[in-house]
Amino acid sequence: MGSHMDSVRPLDASQLRYAYTTAPREVPDAKILTGTHKTICTDHIIVASWNVESGWSVPELKPYGPFSLLPSASCLHYAYECFEGLKAYRGHDGKLRMFRTDCNSRRLLMSAERISLPQFDPDELEKLIYALLSVEGTKWLPKSRAGDFLYVRPTIIGTDSQLGVARPTEALLYIIVGYMARMDTPAGGKRLLTNPDDMVRSWVGGFGYAKVGANYGPSVLATQEAYRRGYHQILWLYGPEGNCTEACGSNFFVIWKRKDGKKELITAPLDDQLILNGVTRRSCLDLARERLKDELEATERKFTIGEIQEAAAEGRLLESFAAGTAWFITPIAMIHHHGKDINIPTGPDGTPTEITGRIKGWLGDMMYGRVEHEWARVVPEKELKNFKIKRDILYH
Ligand SMILES: *Cc1c(COP(=O)(O)O)cnc(C)c1O
Repeated sequence: MGSHMDSVRPLDASQLRYAYTTAPREVPDAKILTGTHKTICTDHIIVASWNVESGWSVPELKPYGPFSLLPSASCLHYAYECFEGLKAYRGHDGKLRMFRTDCNSRRLLMSAERISLPQFDPDELEKLIYALLSVEGTKWLPKSRAGDFLYVRPTIIGTDSQLGVARPTEALLYIIVGYMARMDTPAGGKRLLTNPDDMVRSWVGGFGYAKVGANYGPSVLATQEAYRRGYHQILWLYGPEGNCTEACGSNFFVIWKRKDGKKELITAPLDDQLILNGVTRRSCLDLARERLKDELEATERKFTIGEIQEAAAEGRLLESFAAGTAWFITPIAMIHHHGKDINIPTGPDGTPTEITGRIKGWLGDMMYGRVEHEWARVVPEKELKNFKIKRDILYH
């Protein structure tokens, strides 16, 4: 086994080949972006293919566009797919930054292992992410868009033509970059509906902790019902006790006064593998433990919707927020459970109050370069001038 593994090529970012587009597209303005549900991607994609015999191909940066798959490709039948979601932030100092990409790279490896997709060195993936952003950032997120971001989606799919249910023998890793709307400031704050009694998002022994596509499509049926009834997302509860797990693609936090009078920032634990180990979640906990330790205790343990209702009734419920890359830190203003509303304090029109606002401010300062922090690293951008000389195709 060991010698076999040694003979296959590892993923190697230093081999990256560049084949720039000959048909660069126009950067959409804000109006076009808000008028479409289609994700607009940048000029280029990075791809690396894998097969069980030879390992990873040389990674390639090439024009964004469709790829061809056989109708029998394993990802289309058995959901051999896992992904990551990150953002690249244009700082107020003009620099482009990414946030804790090492965590996302390791998490993609974990997800790939869960769905029998190939392994790779996460450091190499991280280098590829940086390489793509260093090419795309300057054009697609110019300095005039300080305070804005691009969304980055590394993905792995099984590509072998195989209708037998078996470990994929061929796969494709690719990274795309596109625009995503800001979602962290819904008017009046976010409103959650608890899941229907006959549905769960994940279960003990399942794969809710992995970012595999199979977790997301099936959850949309419940989400549509939430939309119809005027809510933003589902709050997924688990078990007969109604343990709070996650709010769709975000981790769920509550700040309350415990019965012993101590202030607590609480979120669901990782050990039963029901929830995703969010990078934003981890960062909130780390910051709270480092900077708020005199004010509150940050805990990862089970807590129920009943405890939230009780805290609300006793005036101990202080704040709640959803945390994730896509939604960033979004205050939750209301949870509807079994016919009753739980109202949660927010700032004016659903803006963050106290603790939520401070944590959001700290993270935003790192991402947008108002404060230097080891979690937010600058992406060295390729000089457009050099492109012009070397490849006059990219810019006219
Ligand atoms: C991606 C995701 C999150 C958020 O994770 P981040 O690393 O903070 O972006 C939370 N829950 C689920 C189910 C997710 O898919």
